[in-house]
Amino acid sequence: MRLVTFLSKLERQPMAGIVLDKQVAPLNAFGAFPDSIMDLIRQGPAEWQRLRQIATVAPSRSLHLDDVTLLAPIARPGRNVMCLGWNYSAHVDESARATGKAVQLPEHPVVFTKAPTSINSPTGDIVFSPNLTEQLDWEVELGVIIGIPGKQIAREQALEHVFGYTVINDVSARDLQQRHGQFFLGKSLDGACPMGPWIVTADEIPDPQNLTLRTYVNDVLKQSGTTSNQIFPVAETISILSRGMTLEAGDVIATGTPDGVGFARTPPEFLRDGDVVACEIEGIGRIQNRVVAG
Ligand code: MG
Repeated sequence: MRLVTFLSKLERQPMAGIVLDKQVAPLNAFGAFPDSIMDLIRQGPAEWQRLRQIATVAPSRSLHLDDVTLLAPIARPGRNVMCLGWNYSAHVDESARATGKAVQLPEHPVVFTKAPTSINSPTGDIVFSPNLTEQLDWEVELGVIIGIPGKQIAREQALEHVFGYTVINDVSARDLQQRHGQFFLGKSLDGACPMGPWIVTADEIPDPQNLTLRTYVNDVLKQSGTTSNQIFPVAETISILSRGMTLEAGDVIATGTPDGVGFARTPPEFLRDGDVVACEIEGIGRIQNRVVAG
């Protein structure tokens, strides 16, 4: 299933929906289903399966994809987005080169977070203040949405806890990351976490370690990688994160970015007013956001 949160032109209230061909059907067109994707996730696998069996054909109440505004599928996560840094060796290499440090692959995942207020829609403007940052950068990432809560999840069972997958752009203000010692502020600007365009449920992504990711800035290819190169695969990441911390339904994990980010390019490149940055993952979808100085 491709699950969305959307606004129609008439209803100004966000609704949960499912994409069937090019149509978006509100979940409640199929009976008693929740108004939000987060609530659907919390209901658990039996309800997901019920929806999957019922929602096969777009009902007459459906709207064309072009006639709705897609929001982030989880418009407001219950807590910070958990993120991995340096999870692709080629990105570790380019970062070391750009900062003049020795290449050192992480033995353990490097984990930081983005504030829930950073969530942006798949087509929303990324508004930034040029007075605050001059080094806004892009990072395409596979986003993992936890479905079944758990603690001390074994690697072998970890993917059974995944509700689905999405595309995330971990927009990063490099100067703020540096200035403040920890990544948090530089990763948490409002709008710095475009997500979507939908969640593809895990049953449709049998192998999350075989997905191609790309970033384009103004239609020029900047990043092209594959999740097969992740140092810590999704299952291992879930297992490690949950060793001492309960993962909850609706938790969002951004699994790191491949090489090709702006700060490591020669010369370095950063996002400017008017740029259009697009991130896509094959088999999931594409998000595209305009960068606006405001
Ligand atoms: Mg990142």
